[in-house]
Amino acid sequence: MQIKTILNNCHKFKSFVYGRAYFAEHAGKQAIHVEIEARKNSQGICSRCQRLAPGYDRLKARKFEFIPLWGFLVFFIYRMRRVECPVCGVTVEEVPWADGKHEQTKTHMQFLAHWAKKLSWKEVAESFQTS
Ligand SMILES: [Zn+2]
Repeated sequence: MQIKTILNNCHKFKSFVYGRAYFAEHAGKQAIHVEIEARKNSQGICSRCQRLAPGYDRLKARKFEFIPLWGFLVFFIYRMRRVECPVCGVTVEEVPWADGKHEQTKTHMQFLAHWAKKLSWKEVAESFQTS
């Protein structure tokens, strides 16, 4: 079974698809990187007014931390699109897995918050090798 198959079963998006998954180094350790791509011909969503808008360009790839798997940190890799919104002008698109400039996915933040009810935030950060 592929990581992509697991993600499509538990964390599927309407307008984005999972691509390649591979090992990459993160802070001296092996981590799993999973690429995300926008579906072909799908428009981006303006992050200011949440309307669909035509594409403008794409930014450099960004990493978004997801729930760790079998001791490996997991990151989504995605090149955010900028959209040309008729109302707001050129803005960065909104993506379903993260808010604004956060490097954590929403799912990972919920995961950490769940553990922080049982442990201190310091213990959670140490246990899951995050900040
Ligand atoms: Zn807009």
